[in-house]
Amino acid sequence: MKCEKCGHEMENCSTAQTICLECPNCGWGFATTLSRPLDEDMTDYRIYLNPGNTETKEHIKLISVICHVNYLQARKLLSSQEPVLIYKAEQEAVSSLSKAGKVMQTAKCLKESSLDFNIIPDFPYEIT
Ligand SMILES: [Zn+2]
Repeated sequence: MKCEKCGHEMENCSTAQTICLECPNCGWGFATTLSRPLDEDMTDYRIYLNPGNTETKEHIKLISVICHVNYLQARKLLSSQEPVLIYKAEQEAVSSLSKAGKVMQTAKCLKESSLDFNIIPDFPYEIT
């Protein structure tokens, strides 16, 4: 790629997180930060259920599925006065989903059930 200003060959100064081209002759250049794609994100996200959620049958059932606990234990988690850890992404060899992908799947279920939860560290993707 040639420099738009002077026609000199641009230099690639990209890193893992940015795409960067710079003209060694006149200094013109640009850099773009790459957002990490969801399916390559291996961050250890954790989902915490916030206190104050309603204990409907549906909610209890969903929590029991996500946490692999029985109905009574799920109900206890839902009635907690403190945020409780309900999901931690783990990489399984058999799964094709990234950690972030799995968190997205779980967060989507929680969101659809209107449960109030929090993802730590900050989840940079829109839950859709
Ligand atoms: Zn130039």
